[in-house]
Amino acid sequence: MEKTFAIIKPDAVERNIVGKILTKIESAGFTIVAMKRIRLTREQAMGFYYVHKERPFYADLCSYMARGPVVVLALEKENAIADWRALMGATNPANADEGTIRKEFGVSLEENSVHGSDSPESALYEIPYFFSSLELV
Ligand code: UDP
Ligand code: MG
Repeated sequence: MEKTFAIIKPDAVERNIVGKILTKIESAGFTIVAMKRIRLTREQAMGFYYVHKERPFYADLCSYMARGPVVVLALEKENAIADWRALMGATNPANADEGTIRKEFGVSLEENSVHGSDSPESALYEIPYFFSSLELV
């Protein structure tokens, strides 16, 4: 079993589609092993997206991620990292495949509704950024 980290981003929480996204996650066979609704500070968003600190979109991305509540999750499944990325779809919703969350719900390249770890190393940074081991059940 593998764990990955997911965020339902502010654009989706604002539109009251958390439940629709959770249904897709559960229907695809993921177990939600941790979940909470939180509001990031801009500094917390900057720390989370530290790997992107040199990218031109970093400042805007961190403001967007802090503009309203998000739902953070740890998901478990065989092949969880790759399978969650597949269910999310391409970063730009315009390029995302039919049936993916970003295709159905994404608003723009930035406001693409969900986050997912891109590697085991990322998951190992991202899950403990939000959850203690006692919260993974
Ligand atoms: N992003 C953006 N402009 C870009 C690329 C990415 O605003 O040109 C945002 C978008 O919200 C994306 C996040 O930054 O989900 C992180 O980018 P990454 O390349 O890691 O994409 P992801 O792993 O989320 O598909
Ligand atoms: Mg990424």
